[in-house]
Amino acid sequence: MDKPAPAAQRTLFERIIAREIPSQVVYEDENYIAIKDIAPKAPIHLLVIPKRVTARVDDITDPLEMGRLWLKATEIAREHAADYRLVVNCGAGGGQMVFHTHIHILAGWKDGPDSDT
Ligand code: AMP
Repeated sequence: MDKPAPAAQRTLFERIIAREIPSQVVYEDENYIAIKDIAPKAPIHLLVIPKRVTARVDDITDPLEMGRLWLKATEIAREHAADYRLVVNCGAGGGQMVFHTHIHILAGWKDGPDSDT
């Protein structure tokens, strides 16, 4: 069996999936993990992360894979909130900091996403 790549060659989220870095896991199956964002930008801020690594969401070219990712994000979002916002930052210019595709789930504001709480 191949040895795992050195930590430096793996993404932050791969290291979270491998439990090398602690996180608050709210969902996991064989293909996805969802965790609480470490620096939440909303009362509820989750990250839905596919275990198959692509750097950016637009690296996913298979419509089924893309569809399944969004379906999973909506399923997880609905378990945490009736209404929510899904966000994907794509590329450094789009605000992406972690180059392992993920969908942000933002929710839980009392008065909608433009309120402070
Ligand atoms: P993005 O800017 O779209 O790449 O989002 C990356 C997100 O990962 C940011 O919202 C960070 O707060 C979040 N983040 C960074 N490190 C961790 C961590 N160790 N555990 C959970 N979330 C993290």
